[in-house]
Amino acid sequence: MSQKEPDYVRAHRHSLDNQEEIERSERCGCFYCLAIFSPEEIDWTAPVDDGTAWCPRCGIDSVIGAASGYPITEEFLGEMYAHWFGQGKIIGEVNCIL
Ligand SMILES: [Zn+2]
Repeated sequence: MSQKEPDYVRAHRHSLDNQEEIERSERCGCFYCLAIFSPEEIDWTAPVDDGTAWCPRCGIDSVIGAASGYPITEEFLGEMYAHWFGQGKIIGEVNCIL
């Protein structure tokens, strides 16, 4: 395990099998569509009931919770998007509801 991985890389593992962690979070965010929302919005049975959060806005399993210890902010989610989905660019449209 590398200590040098940046947070936006390490945070990715918190997007999988994360039901318990997200239910302890006061809010969570999607690093695909950059939405920030309450864990109560997540439907844990859709599209499959596998203990992984699926974003209620875009339907991608790219959700991390505040209980992961990572910042649930547009900036941080944008960094994650750029690393995991983009080619180093931040998408322009942000669906922040706060
Ligand atoms: Zn989303």
